[in-house]
Amino acid sequence: RRKWRKVVGILRDLEESCETPLGRLRQMVDAIAVEMQAGLVSEGGSKLKMLLTFVDDLPNGSERGTYYALHLGGSYFRMIRVYLTGQRSSLEVQDVERHSIPTSLLNSTSEVLFDFLASSLQGFIEKEGDTSNLSQFVKRELAFTFSFPVKQTSISSGVLIKWTKGFAISEMAGEDIAECLQGALNRRGLDIHVAALVNDTVGALSFGHYHDPDTIAAVVFGTGSNACYLERTDAIIKCQNPRTTSGSMVVNMEWGNFWSSRLPRTRYDVELDAESLNSNDMGFEKMIGGMYLGDIVRRVILRMSQESDVFGPISSILLTPFVLRTNSVSAMHEDDTPELQEVARILKDLGVSEVPMKVRKLVMKICDVVTRRAARLAAAGVAGILKKVGRDGSGGGRRRSDKQMMRRTVVAVEGGLYSNYKMFREYMDEALREILGEDVAQHVVIKAMEDGSSIGSALLLASSHSVRT
Ligand code: ADP
Repeated sequence: RRKWRKVVGILRDLEESCETPLGRLRQMVDAIAVEMQAGLVSEGGSKLKMLLTFVDDLPNGSERGTYYALHLGGSYFRMIRVYLTGQRSSLEVQDVERHSIPTSLLNSTSEVLFDFLASSLQGFIEKEGDTSNLSQFVKRELAFTFSFPVKQTSISSGVLIKWTKGFAISEMAGEDIAECLQGALNRRGLDIHVAALVNDTVGALSFGHYHDPDTIAAVVFGTGSNACYLERTDAIIKCQNPRTTSGSMVVNMEWGNFWSSRLPRTRYDVELDAESLNSNDMGFEKMIGGMYLGDIVRRVILRMSQESDVFGPISSILLTPFVLRTNSVSAMHEDDTPELQEVARILKDLGVSEVPMKVRKLVMKICDVVTRRAARLAAAGVAGILKKVGRDGSGGGRRRSDKQMMRRTVVAVEGGLYSNYKMFREYMDEALREILGEDVAQHVVIKAMEDGSSIGSALLLASSHSVRT
């Protein structure tokens, strides 16, 4: 009994240190809006890098042609081919392939990584035969969608700032990512031109905006997390001479690196960070990214198992970082079998068998606490963007109740965590409503998308072509 009490105490501590009451969420919203502002004023002025993207015009539906995109995400890479006829409704995704990134690549070399991507693309193109509407003599135009922080120097070039999400390929920071890919394609004799380098969030925004011009921001909740939004160029003070015709530019926030002392941090977050490849970095991402949620849950279970006997003898599997994946967290959390068989099955895979019902429920509760915190912080992030652009109902001296003044605002959302984890979505929606209040929330649409970042990057490339020609 005393052992059970110990475990309940650990759970209570976890709940307390993960608490995200509305007041705290509002502080997060303010902190994010303030940091966004600081990051726009000066280079290095904030933990939020607020990177320029050189994207000023978003696709509008008039684009034409065949375009490719290659997307390097945190866990997957994707290749697509789209065919555009100039009419929004006839956007045709002709082919799409998605593969896991082999873990051996994560700490390989630049040459190995880009050669792998080039050879995958070669396979993709060889398969298309004559279905592509392209003659074999036409040079293919490719958008490279890249889910890591890049300092863009133009729409088609930029250097890697740092790796995140478990990638650790040395000697790449400072290299032009588009050139690396182009070099690998050239070495294979492939006639493909890397004509755009696009952050995945920017691709998602492009796709969202293509279908719905009220879309002003995009957020990705996948292996990691990041957001971008459309900002007025005169607010981007750190950029003296932004050459845009539209008066606005997409800004890549790199919000995974957001930090505030008000974030509800637990001992498990501290340990996870200390043992990570990038400690003291990406603090927000480590609380909301799909790569990390499973490992937070694992650390809680491990501690309970070390300090009590309710999980039986300590399993050596449980000691392995990242062995519990976030898809298993959602499977346990959403287990609706009467005996919680899914929880039991996953625990068994972790080397913990024969756990009684009350322990299964306990594990489910841990998943709930960790995911609820993540989803509520994610909602605060979205509300922070809305606040910065004056769409949270508080800005411009407008009264919250003045419905006439509220414009419809769409935020495009994508990523495996969001699309596959219903409880994450529900907690996030609920928190966003709490923060904004019903009056404002009814004007804010969260639009889920799939493959939006890759398709959107191809659309962006198409629209940059149509500007030039
Ligand atoms: P990437 O991050 O590589 O661009 P995705 O956006 O598809 O790819 O996100 C993949 C991530 O989403 C996985 O690493 C995992 O963390 C999370 N995820 C995938 N499936 C689930 C699921 N069923 N439940 C919870 N999280 C999931």
